[in-house]
Amino acid sequence: MTNQAQQPCLKVIPLGGLHEIGKNTCVFEYGDDIMLVDAGLAFPSDGMHGVNVVMPDTSYLRENQKRIRGMIVTHGHEDHIGGIAHHLKNFNIPVIHGPRLALAMLTGKMEEAGVMDRTILQTVAPRDVVKVGQHFSVEFIRNTHSMADSFSLAITTPVGTVIFTGDFKFDHTPVDGETFDMARLAHYGEQGVLCLFSDSTNSEVPGFCPPERSVFPCLDRHISQAEGRVIITTFASSIHRVAMILELALKNGRKVGLLGRSMLNVIAKARELGYMRAPDDLFVPIKQIRDLPDRETLLLMTGSQGEPLAALSRISRGEHPQVQVKTTDTIIFSASPIPGNTISVVNTIDRLMMLGAKVVYGKGEGIHVSGHGFQEDQKLMLALTKPKYFVPVHGEHRMLVCHSKTAQSMGVPAENILIIDNGDVVQLTPDSISKGEPVKAGIELLDASRNGIVDARVLKERQQLAEDGVITMLAVISTDGVMAAPPRVNLRGVVTAADARKLSLWAEREITWVLENRWQQLSRNSGGKAPDVDWMGVQREIEIGLQRRLRRELQVEPLIICLVQPAPGGTPAYKGRADAEPDTRPAPRGGRGGGRDDRRERPERVDRGPRAERPAPAPEPRRELAAVGAAPAAAKVEEPELEGRTRRRRSAAAG
Ligand SMILES: [Zn+2]
Ligand SMILES: [Zn+2]
Repeated sequence: MTNQAQQPCLKVIPLGGLHEIGKNTCVFEYGDDIMLVDAGLAFPSDGMHGVNVVMPDTSYLRENQKRIRGMIVTHGHEDHIGGIAHHLKNFNIPVIHGPRLALAMLTGKMEEAGVMDRTILQTVAPRDVVKVGQHFSVEFIRNTHSMADSFSLAITTPVGTVIFTGDFKFDHTPVDGETFDMARLAHYGEQGVLCLFSDSTNSEVPGFCPPERSVFPCLDRHISQAEGRVIITTFASSIHRVAMILELALKNGRKVGLLGRSMLNVIAKARELGYMRAPDDLFVPIKQIRDLPDRETLLLMTGSQGEPLAALSRISRGEHPQVQVKTTDTIIFSASPIPGNTISVVNTIDRLMMLGAKVVYGKGEGIHVSGHGFQEDQKLMLALTKPKYFVPVHGEHRMLVCHSKTAQSMGVPAENILIIDNGDVVQLTPDSISKGEPVKAGIELLDASRNGIVDARVLKERQQLAEDGVITMLAVISTDGVMAAPPRVNLRGVVTAADARKLSLWAEREITWVLENRWQQLSRNSGGKAPDVDWMGVQREIEIGLQRRLRRELQVEPLIICLVQPAPGGTPAYKGRADAEPDTRPAPRGGRGGGRDDRRERPERVDRGPRAERPAPAPEPRRELAAVGAAPAAAKVEEPELEGRTRRRRSAAAG
């Protein structure tokens, strides 16, 4: 928003898609106009418990929604269109221009989200030029990618033309015959391109990316040699791959059964729009395909990424109602795992093999090629467009760095290249490129409903629950600040070497400490008969104290939930056992002021002072505690050994 440059400049602000593969969302801004290019989603990484979808933080767009003139969509992959339906609930996008197939897929998502009336969808054809706002005009240049109907963009702005490649590879023999419109790229290169924003996904891979067609003979060999059923998994959105598999089924006299919602949806859409030509009778409903001989069937399904709920994953666990693995099955993984999914994929492969199936997977088999160009493809893009400035996008950091080296080897000076992160602002004028003041960028995590937002605190709590369990504690405290009953402590999923008695003793001590040192701040005598007590504050103080003690004494960080049950003033005090055993806690904490922070800053000291050997007279039976007590497994781990233990904590919320 800041207008630091006197000279008007074009701002390009990626809100997602950098330092990652996923949730590509880019903002173009000039004067009063904002144009969006793509809005994708990403999938959660390990440790994002219960999170289904990752979205970019769009506060910048919400704040500036009055200036949004429209959106351009390059192609229909989830990492480019998956966020749109969600965003339409939060801010206005007056019009969306995009390819027919992508918009058909988007329509399905928008109907599901109930936002069909929030925008206008405009279909484009190759070389169409659309105007967005006063300052942008965008030409759609046909490119080649694993998804059909995909485009690169030539964006003409008052400061010059920007080429935004979208996802691409140079495939000269595309499955659908729609070749890359290289002549158009060269035309812009000839006229002068101010800046190139180019796909970096495979910048580390030397050579040219093989054409999609090259997997055909390999798949053909596996399918024709299969003795029993053929089961193939791939991305439903890999339209060309799916089209080839259908062609091969026809060629090999096999009927096709489809499994998985996205597989059914995408194939229906693509056939309806003519992106796949397959006769109706090629398809047999999954319930009837079992009646055909195995040698005449091919099952095409989701699950190439080991997603737990996808068809093939369920089959591998023997949980699919219609399909069970047979030892005569040939199962083909015609996809490579997205980096974060490798473990789920190999686990699925293991399970399928253990069930006796023949599983075909991996690089050496020639059954998968990437949809993103390699180094030589990227060089060709640079050669055709001859950009003055260069910004590598769509990739993790090392890929961006590698792509920038490629550009330098092609003669783009290092100072004309920017490596940026989400939220960075690229400022372009006819003769300069620079980074402006960044805007807010981050992630929004959506849970299964896609409505609830999982914030960083919730995520931290889920991680704590998963890794260290939970301790709940009930404290009864009277309004005049005395502990009226022994605390009741419950453990779930906590492994600790401390016995039950010790834990409740520690709980008592924390309560006593809070009552002695914090009560004055937390209660206010407003003149009435009972003082005003900040019970939430009391709970929080007790939680923090116990948390710190457990971290220090046992090196565990369970989630601690303290509930305080207020008792009327004048309730007799429960006389704790605090005197029965010496405290191992460091010297009493400071008085007023710092609150929680003064405790944190105290030098950590593991005091292994005299351990209480004599059994304390238990004033009351503690049933809850005895029941869950100290987990037996932990008994062998004594506290001292625990000390240097390095704790693994995934910082999934970061980034
Ligand atoms: Zn793509
Ligand atoms: Zn992509």
